[in-house]
Amino acid sequence: MKQPPDIQKLEETLNASKISAGGFMGSDRRPLQEILEADASELVRLGHTTSGIADRMRHIMASAERGLGSWVQVDDTIQASATDTRGVLPCPWPHPGTYLKTAVVARNTRTGKTIRWSALSIHLIEEHGFFEGQGSAFRLEPDILVDVIF
Ligand SMILES: [Zn+2]
Repeated sequence: MKQPPDIQKLEETLNASKISAGGFMGSDRRPLQEILEADASELVRLGHTTSGIADRMRHIMASAERGLGSWVQVDDTIQASATDTRGVLPCPWPHPGTYLKTAVVARNTRTGKTIRWSALSIHLIEEHGFFEGQGSAFRLEPDILVDVIF
């Protein structure tokens, strides 16, 4: 299958980005489309949608930001803490818009498992169905993410 040129350009951006150490693709050698499709199937299996996940991440992040760096009890099972690293990140997809670098760590008190993400991660999942490539510092494995935040 011949890929349209804009996808090739996007893959190059995702691989080489200096924004995210190691790029958004990490050590993943699969084509972008394959990564997107594999994660989409995984979400179907898990019974979740990108918008449902993004809503939940946004809610946890908003609660965490009120703690100004301290741990906040978001609800019965989630504690979260936000780190305000100054600055903004552009989305690697070619469209205007930047996202605050703020990162959040969420801890599920039932399992003790933690996961972290940025405002850009929420956007990438919600708008592009992209959880980043395997080996990327910010890769969010859908099953682990769902397990922690729901
Ligand atoms: Zn985008």
